[in-house]
Amino acid sequence: MSIYDVVIIGAGIIGTTLARELSRYRLRVLVLEKEYDVSMGATKANSAIVHGGYAESRATLKGKLCYPGRCQFEQLDRELHFGFDPIGSLVVTMEDAREPLEQLVQQGTDNGVPDLEILDGNTVRAMEPNLNPGVQWALYCKGAGVCSPYEMAIAMAENAVNNGVVLRLEHEVQAISSRGEGFVVQTSGGSFQGRFVVNCAGIYADRVSHMVGAGNFSIHPRSGEYLLFARGTGQGVNSVIFRLPTAMGKGVLVTSTYHGNLMIGPDASDDSPRDDTSTHMERIAAIYQQSRQLYDGMDPKKFLRSFTGIRARSSDNDFHIEESSVPGFFHAAGIQSPGLTAAPAATERLIKLLAKSGLTLEPDPGFNPHREPIITRKELRPFPEVKHLIDMPSAPEKIICRCEQVTEAEIVDSLHRGIRVKALDGVKRRTRASMGWCQGTFCRPRIAEVMEREYGEPVDNRFDIEHSGVSRVTRSDFLEFFQRRQ
Ligand SMILES: Cc1cc2nc3c(=O)[nH]c(=O)nc-3n(C[C@H](O)[C@H](O)[C@H](O)COP(=O)(O)OP(=O)(O)OC[C@H]3O[C@@H](n4cnc5c(N)ncnc54)[C@H](O)[C@@H]3O)c2cc1C
Repeated sequence: MSIYDVVIIGAGIIGTTLARELSRYRLRVLVLEKEYDVSMGATKANSAIVHGGYAESRATLKGKLCYPGRCQFEQLDRELHFGFDPIGSLVVTMEDAREPLEQLVQQGTDNGVPDLEILDGNTVRAMEPNLNPGVQWALYCKGAGVCSPYEMAIAMAENAVNNGVVLRLEHEVQAISSRGEGFVVQTSGGSFQGRFVVNCAGIYADRVSHMVGAGNFSIHPRSGEYLLFARGTGQGVNSVIFRLPTAMGKGVLVTSTYHGNLMIGPDASDDSPRDDTSTHMERIAAIYQQSRQLYDGMDPKKFLRSFTGIRARSSDNDFHIEESSVPGFFHAAGIQSPGLTAAPAATERLIKLLAKSGLTLEPDPGFNPHREPIITRKELRPFPEVKHLIDMPSAPEKIICRCEQVTEAEIVDSLHRGIRVKALDGVKRRTRASMGWCQGTFCRPRIAEVMEREYGEPVDNRFDIEHSGVSRVTRSDFLEFFQRRQ
C-alpha cells in the first residue's frame, strides 16, 4: 500500500487549494474525490463572489479568514488564470438609515478591510443606472469582485497534479482507521495510507469525521437556487449588488458572472435532502420577483437556466479548520460562504496546523506556480465572421461550440492537462462549450467526437446521464410561468 504524507478527502476549492499549496514542498500528497471530476460540490454552484470581508464578525473564523483570502486572488489569478475581476460590491438599502451600513463598515474595519465607503443614493444610481430609484444608501467595497469558481478549483488541481500531487477521482472514502502513526483510508477504489488526513468533504464532512470518531460538529445543508441569464446580459450591472444581510445569510444578490451572464439568487432553504440540486418554479419565481424590486434590467426571455448550490452549514455556523480530537486527523469543515473567498487563507491556516503537528515543510525547488489558461474571457465575434470556422473539417481553429465560440484546439487542450476529463460536463466547465444559448444541443455530439478521438475510446455517458436526471426549471417552464402571470 502506498504511504502518503497527507491524504486530502474532497476536491472542492478547499481540497484543491490545499493540495496545490502542499505541492510547494517535498511531500507525497494524495487527493481522494468521490465524483468523476474535481469541483463537483458547493464549489461548482455558488455566487462566485470574492467577498469584501466585512459581512462576518472577527469573532468567527469566517470573519478572520475572508479578507486575507480575498487579498490573494490577484496573485493567484496571475499564476493560474482562472478568472477574477474586482468589480466592487454594493450593499444597498431602501431605508433612509445609514446605521446598518455603518455597523458593517465597523465590522469590516475590525477585520482589516481598508476599502469601504458609504455612498448616497445619487452616487449609487450614477454607478448602477438600472437600480431601483428608491435606493437611499449603499456600502461600497471597491476590491470585492467575481471569479470563476470551478475554473479556479480546476486550475488549482491541474497545477497541483503537475507539481506531483496524486489525484484519484471516483474514490469515495468509506472507512478510516488508525494505523501506527497514521491512518488507513478505505475507498471505493482501494486503500491508502497517510500520516495526516485532512477532511475537506463539504456537505459530507460530518460523516467523514465520524468514520474516525472525531466529530464535534454536524452539517446542516442549506440549499440556494439561482437564475442564470444569457451571455451579455451581465452588461447592465457594474458591481455585485446585495441587500442588507439577514440571519439566513447575505440574501438574494444581482451580479454579472465573470463571463458576462446576469445571475440572481440564491434563496435559502433548510428543507431539502443533503445533495438535492433540483430547482423549483415557486422558488425561482420568488427570487425573480425579489430581484426585480432591486434591479430593473432583467429580460425574462433571456433566462438560460436554473441551478442549486448547497451550503455546508455547521452546527455552530462557523468554519471548523482544526486538528480534531484524533491526532493527525484535521477538519476543514462547515465551509459555507465566504468559503471560496477564504480558501487561500483557510489552507494557509491548515498548513500551519499540519506543521505544528509534525509535518515537515521542506520547499521543493521544482515547484512551478504557473498554469496556462485553457480559455480567456472574450467578446463573441459576429456570426458571419465565424461561420466558415464552424463548417470547416477538423482543425485547431474549427469552432465546436458556436454559442460560446469554443475551438477544437481549446477542447483538445482541456483534455490533456494531467486530469482525465470523463464527461462532456467536464469539458463544459473547462472551456464553456455548451454553456451558451442552445445549452449544448449543437455541440455536445461534436465534443464527444473530439474526446473519443483524443482518448481513443467512447465517452462514458454514465456521468452526463446522471447529471441530466436532476429536475430543474427550464427556459420553457420559466417563460410559461411568466406569461401566465402577466
Ligand atoms: C449557494 C451558495 C452560495 C455561495 N456563494 C459564495 C460566494 O459568493 N463567495 C464565497 O466566497 N463563497 C460562497 N459560497 C461558499 C463556497 O462555495 C464554499 O464555501 C466552498 O465551495 C466550499 O468548498 P469545499 O471544498 O469545502 O466543499 P465542496 O466544494 O463541496 O467540496 C467537497 C468535495 O468533497 C467530496 N466528497 C464528499 N464526501 C466524500 C467522500 N466520502 N470521499 C471522497 N470525496 C468526498 C465532494 O464530492 C466534493 O467534491 C457559497 C456556497 C453556496 C452553496
